Amino acid sequence: TRQEVSPVFSKALDYGEKVAIIDHSGEHSYSSLYNTSRSLAGHISQALACESGDLQGKRISFLCANDASYTVAQWAAWMCGGMAVPLYRKHPPAELEYIISDSQSSLLLAGQPYGEALEPLAQKLGLPCLHLPPTSSLDSLQAAEPPAQPTKTLSDWAERPAMLVYTSGTTGRPKGVLHTHSTLQAMVQGLVSEWGWSRDDVILHTLPLHHVHGIVNKLLCPLWVGATCIMLPDFDAKKVWERLLSSKTPVVSVFMAVPTIYSKLIQHYEQHFTTPRVQDFIRAVCKEKIRLMVSGSAALPQPVLRRWKEITSHVLLERYGMTEIGMALSNPLNGPRIPGAVGTPLPGVEVCIVMNDTTIVRSTNKETQVIAGLEGRAGELMVRGSSVFQKYWNRPQETAESFTEDGWFKTGDTATYKDGVYWIMGRTSVDIIKSGGYKISALEVERHLVAHPDITDVAVIGARDATWGQKVVAVVQLQKGKTLTLPELKAWAREHMAPYTIPMDLIVVKDMPRNQMGKVNKKDLLHQFFPS
Ligand code: ATP
Ligand code: MG
Repeated sequence: TRQEVSPVFSKALDYGEKVAIIDHSGEHSYSSLYNTSRSLAGHISQALACESGDLQGKRISFLCANDASYTVAQWAAWMCGGMAVPLYRKHPPAELEYIISDSQSSLLLAGQPYGEALEPLAQKLGLPCLHLPPTSSLDSLQAAEPPAQPTKTLSDWAERPAMLVYTSGTTGRPKGVLHTHSTLQAMVQGLVSEWGWSRDDVILHTLPLHHVHGIVNKLLCPLWVGATCIMLPDFDAKKVWERLLSSKTPVVSVFMAVPTIYSKLIQHYEQHFTTPRVQDFIRAVCKEKIRLMVSGSAALPQPVLRRWKEITSHVLLERYGMTEIGMALSNPLNGPRIPGAVGTPLPGVEVCIVMNDTTIVRSTNKETQVIAGLEGRAGELMVRGSSVFQKYWNRPQETAESFTEDGWFKTGDTATYKDGVYWIMGRTSVDIIKSGGYKISALEVERHLVAHPDITDVAVIGARDATWGQKVVAVVQLQKGKTLTLPELKAWAREHMAPYTIPMDLIVVKDMPRNQMGKVNKKDLLHQFFPS
């Protein structure tokens, strides 16, 4: 019977014994995940003495490995009408505490082996903490207590809060973004139709599970269509290559990652797959078995795109998204993918670019209107549609400030529309550098610099400058054993870049400080090198 009505998980009932997740502990069918979640939902209701089985949006923070326990915790939170708050296992205790406290969670769920990490926090904050059994014996939960009180039909499920996902914290403290069951569903449906998800798909999942990329694109989408998700405990270049190339069934058909992961896979390839025979094999397997490879969460450097194509024959599909809106813009599944661009809106998403209060272009999935003469100009990207979040948790002012009067969400990213597609120039607050009267996109400068043969990674920042207002500063990581001076960089840049975009300052770092999602916190970087 379908008592639980959020389609985000109730579709699991359609797929029965089909394998939903394969992880370190083995295979988990849709029905076993569903039943275990039901049991856990019962335990949660009991722990919170909630007889109706409807927690009315109470927050449940959970910390799980990248395995089936994650889905069980998430579904269980939903089944009892709660809001799921995913925690990240690599966060230090202070960060975990921040999210648990900020979300005002009522209960903690600890997947194995994270009981020890959560228990002290549970005690400190006075919260109950339930421990899940090892993932290999998740279904032992069923016998432990009477089965869950079936959740009452939540006729208003659509508008119900489903998840608090915290932003990456690239521009400040992470903000809790409230998604309802219907905004999640809209995200999933848009991607499923646009990227051609089907029940036969098999995705390899290697990303953290506390951001939309890992949660929605790589897990909720396959589970929605009845596909299979292979979850690796962590990113490991060797293991990813092994699984991508393995003929073991089920054979991987979809892969998605952030740009830094593709860079690491390329590095591994260059070091280990050196014979033409192996290289031909890799290209053939990827071409034949894999139907889709996606990149996102940060700008994809073109050398990575190009090398990946040589290695695998796949042109990475780049898309643009945010915690607040899910995916908004995407290159096409079929049809030309323009390097450096992020394509056009997904179904259900409307975008526009606003320059000095004037809307210069506006698109839906079907059509685009451009104000004559303003094509190619830059402005703020705004988004409207059924996947847009409801609000920032406990931040009414920030919520209000991030929407226009007619309901557009202001992304804070600068974009342009050119050649029929959208291009992301970067975050207005840190990536748009105003130097000597020019507005320079840090992302565009990065796109050029990363093509320098000795530069392996680069972040461009705008530092305060008495003469220019701001100056372009290149923070670079170099190939092993290489050196680079500012005059050398400038000489090279003069042949490749517009004069006013050439860096005036060069900082060489040993390791680019990128987080798990491949992002550089530019405010931190500025502060580190230019403390004011
Ligand atoms: P916070 O909001 O806490 O500062 P964050 O914005 O990094 O952190 P996310 O919601 O995870 O948190 O990231 C969304 C941002 O990632 C976008 O606003 C955009 O700047 C960047 N982004 C995502 N995809 C792309 C892409 N394909 N190209 C360039 N930038 C991208
Ligand atoms: Mg943001």
